[in-house]
Amino acid sequence: MNTRPRELNLNDGLADYAVVDAVSRGRHYPEPPPSYRSEFQRDRDRVIHAAAFRRLEYKTQVFVNHEGDLFRTRLTHSIEVAQIARSIARALRLNEDLTEAISLAHDLGHTPFGHAGQDALNECMRDYGGFEHNLQSLRVVDELEEKYADFPGLNLSFETREGILKHCSPKNAAELGEVGARFLNKQQPSLEAQLTNLADEIAYNSHDVDDGLRAELISIEQLREVPLFNQQYEEVRSRYPELSQRRVIHEVVRRLINCQVVDLVQTSMAELARHAPPDLEAVRRRAGPLIAFSDDMRERNLELKRFLRNELYRHYRVHRMSVKALRVIRDLFNAFFADPRLLPVEAQHKVFERQRNGGDSGRARAVADYIAGMTDRYAIKEHQRVYNPGELT
Ligand code: MG
Repeated sequence: MNTRPRELNLNDGLADYAVVDAVSRGRHYPEPPPSYRSEFQRDRDRVIHAAAFRRLEYKTQVFVNHEGDLFRTRLTHSIEVAQIARSIARALRLNEDLTEAISLAHDLGHTPFGHAGQDALNECMRDYGGFEHNLQSLRVVDELEEKYADFPGLNLSFETREGILKHCSPKNAAELGEVGARFLNKQQPSLEAQLTNLADEIAYNSHDVDDGLRAELISIEQLREVPLFNQQYEEVRSRYPELSQRRVIHEVVRRLINCQVVDLVQTSMAELARHAPPDLEAVRRRAGPLIAFSDDMRERNLELKRFLRNELYRHYRVHRMSVKALRVIRDLFNAFFADPRLLPVEAQHKVFERQRNGGDSGRARAVADYIAGMTDRYAIKEHQRVYNPGELT
């Protein structure tokens, strides 16, 4: 029974093409609507209470968690994405709660050790269907979280799940059913999903600049060759010639975020006005996205990404960590796959259960789920416990 008071209109002022409760495709296991929250507030709240969400605090974004307390983690990254996504959503009269739910959930499937960890696990899983962090985030909310009496996972709304699944191979899409269909039909997700995807990019490009400078892996002099950075830097320098370096960096980073958000909002507003989609389904039926940067900003963004890839993500200190991460993940996978009895009892049960239904692929998937759920420090500790004879178990 819907106990929500009539006067509580949770969708006031939203655009016709925004996602609202009334047009939601609902949850896999039907539930009565929440009393004083929208369906998407409920999704967000379920994500916040998930164990996988708490573990994001101890997972690397670029820098390994214990390298310094000031660097971004997956948790602070997800919160920054939510902040940016909500600002954009409100400006475009889209559903803020939905963008927040997607933002906070989008990295739940990340392995320990950032992208190096995901690449390693993908390699281990090559013969068993591969490993993709995006799909894993969906697995976490659909299956792996064990909290509720009435269903596995978090039983999130279709629209939140649609936003979590940013990309997907045709093979996986075919197996996923409704939530994978758009990858086969070449259609779009909701505008809220589209904008959260770009908010993620704005967040990591900007905070990787900040963290990279803080770690002294990249320098301002190098960054000045990147036009997007240099423009903001020049403005700050000429306006505040006496400002300390730390504050200059923060000021530039915040302006970097702001100029991208403003460009995205303005470009998307114009696109929405031009195409005037009458409703959400019209948005989904389109072949291309309606939320976009201007051509100029997209180009500048690419330059910044290229710089970060070459100068930061491939820096020898980051590379060293990536190589170590690869070794840890590969060793753990090989040990657990060869002998699941090395696992804690509950995890063993899951591996054997999956194996009964799915053979070696099922066994491998359950081991990958276990490893993907680890924090950086837990993976390092497990590696020592499994491989180091001097380490107590
Ligand atoms: Mg992200």
